[in-house]
Amino acid sequence: MPIRFIELMPVSRADLVASPVFYPIEELMRELGADGGLEPLPDYRPGHGPARYYRHGATGAKLGFIGALTTPHFCESCNKLRLTADGKLRPCLGRHGEIDLLASLRAGGDPARALEAAVANKPESHGFLESYLPERPMTAIGG
Ligand code: SF4
Repeated sequence: MPIRFIELMPVSRADLVASPVFYPIEELMRELGADGGLEPLPDYRPGHGPARYYRHGATGAKLGFIGALTTPHFCESCNKLRLTADGKLRPCLGRHGEIDLLASLRAGGDPARALEAAVANKPESHGFLESYLPERPMTAIGG
């Protein structure tokens, strides 16, 4: 089972990216790679997620790295939608847009239409480095 590292994302507080606790993924890779190197595993993609995997030279462990904020084009292959506990479809974790699936269902709407709208409203990228300010914490979004 690989160990995965992901950059801290400002999903609950906007000030985290500029704080000392934010650690760029390239820096972590440099530090871990100093101990026997990191061998890229380009064909290893469990779950088809956004992580890039490497074999750690010193231990043989498989390590995954997700540069959510510092990797260019991080979002371009994203296929995720989130369904919140209060019935909203959220096309992107890092943008505010939501589609009210629950209201649509209660009004007799077709859930497939809501899903199509959510897919059609997927942004090209998150807004974490722009004007995104979390309006509710990750625990209220899910995922
Ligand atoms: S598009 Fe949104 S949900 Fe998808 S990877 Fe980027 S930030 Fe995450």
